[in-house]
Amino acid sequence: MIFPAVRARLIFLALVCVFLNASLIAAQEVTPAETAGNTNAATPPALLDSRVTATQDRARLVLDLTTPTEFAVHTVADPMSVVVELRAQTGDAEDTNQPAGDGLITSYTVDTPGSQRVRVTLSLAGPAQVQQSYILDAFEDQPARLVIDLVPDTAENFAANVRDTQAEEAEVETAPTETALDGRQTAPGETATATDAVRPLVVIDPGHGGVDGGARATNGLEEKNIVLAFALKLQNLLVETGRFDVALTRDTDAFLTLSERVALARQNQADLFISLHADSFDQADVRGASIYTRGDLATSDLDRVLAENENRADLVAGFSPPEDEGAVDVLVDFLARETRRQSYLAGQALIEQLEPSVQLRRFPLRQADFFVLNSPDIPSVLIELGFLSNSDDTQNLTTDAWLDRVAAALARGVAVYFDGRRTGQ
Ligand SMILES: [Zn+2]
Repeated sequence: MIFPAVRARLIFLALVCVFLNASLIAAQEVTPAETAGNTNAATPPALLDSRVTATQDRARLVLDLTTPTEFAVHTVADPMSVVVELRAQTGDAEDTNQPAGDGLITSYTVDTPGSQRVRVTLSLAGPAQVQQSYILDAFEDQPARLVIDLVPDTAENFAANVRDTQAEEAEVETAPTETALDGRQTAPGETATATDAVRPLVVIDPGHGGVDGGARATNGLEEKNIVLAFALKLQNLLVETGRFDVALTRDTDAFLTLSERVALARQNQADLFISLHADSFDQADVRGASIYTRGDLATSDLDRVLAENENRADLVAGFSPPEDEGAVDVLVDFLARETRRQSYLAGQALIEQLEPSVQLRRFPLRQADFFVLNSPDIPSVLIELGFLSNSDDTQNLTTDAWLDRVAAALARGVAVYFDGRRTGQ
């Protein structure tokens, strides 16, 4: 598989707060023009840092880069490994046999098989396949990143991927000239084929995080953890369909301002933004799931209070609440109206799928003035999975079977919504 940089739907993961400062200084020193996002500059992309996190169930390779670049992923049988090649300079990033714990990846090596070529070899504990791979553009104080996710797979599928890699390599060796990584040849048109396969980008936004725990159940469980676990479930289901690229605004217990959440989605031109919450309310009998789209006039007082509380989330971490700029011109206003219509259609599709299997609030498709729903150009919904102030809901929100059922229903709803968009709804 060759993934050209142009294919990269500049997706962002908010792996905030960690490890980035040193890399950023390096980025500025090496190629200031490139960190400003100029991918056509003469200076080739450079690898700044690499890291692997691995459990038995999944593993992730993250490569910090000065700018997006081309990459290819191969599966190798002996020793069992996944090899990522990219066009980039390494600087000091070479590393041999870095241990990666006792998860899916046991160790990894970064080396430079040629000039402007970096190869990362991920040694596997067992058969695995690439679940998704994508490049994120540099954004504010974060470098560009190549992210590769691996999940366990059967020996048969692994063997098939090895054969695909071998077939690609054979093709590369016999095909007419076109520059490939490492100066080998690649078939003309191969890049174009990959470029065609741009999937809609769904950004999932698990609410709260870090110092902002969100609502808290009587058993001490925090909203931020419930919605993060649920977001990962939903991401998996959507990725498994093969129809969507799916990014999370946060995939760790990190604090993000409301503006950052919206900016991540807008910068990447997301096709759908889904914010996840499980708030509490001072009437313990209020329960059930509901979905919000943006509306200045809240459906009820409860909805208005919920939105006001959510919009104050930044204060918890010492930031001032975000200012809503509102529609600035006729074009934005027009766009915003169409986006609201699409948001409503998305909410409707999600509710229809939830209805048979989940207790919903009366009139479950509601409106309130949630700040995170304010992108004028991205259909956005906020899902209240339930209320942690209600004991039945709390029970559900801590039951895996219930969470799986809801995630599956929402994944179906997303597919139905995009089916509708394709037919020009
Ligand atoms: Zn919340």
